Amino acid sequence: MQSNQPKSQRIPFKEGLFTMPPPDGEGAHLIGSKCKNCGDVFFPKREVCLNCGKIDMEEIALSTRGKLDTYSIITQVPPGAVVTAPFVSARILLPEGVYVGALLADGDFQRLKVGMDVELVIDKLMEDKEGNEIMAYKFRPV
Ligand code: ZN
Repeated sequence: MQSNQPKSQRIPFKEGLFTMPPPDGEGAHLIGSKCKNCGDVFFPKREVCLNCGKIDMEEIALSTRGKLDTYSIITQVPPGAVVTAPFVSARILLPEGVYVGALLADGDFQRLKVGMDVELVIDKLMEDKEGNEIMAYKFRPV
């Protein structure tokens, strides 16, 4: 009954961090939370506001564009790591004032500049044993 087996799937590496885009398109976003009391925004989403301590948070879709705040080029990874070197580990500042730690996708590393515009992409991180694609959020230069 091999033919009834489901095809390989795209699975987020962790639930609750981002929405998956439809197979043919755009539309993914990171999931944050905004405090209804003081307006502070957080990623990942949280139940309690770190700023005012209130438990009055609403889930919001974060902007898909931001600025490259800082980055490091990683040239070596330990054995068994899920990513292959070299890659770029970055911190992105979104317009909501929230910092997001992320990998950069397909970067021409020489071209990177602090302050440049970057946009969200949902990109394959690895494959699991069943051939499913484990997806992660990354950013790439615009
Ligand atoms: Zn607050």
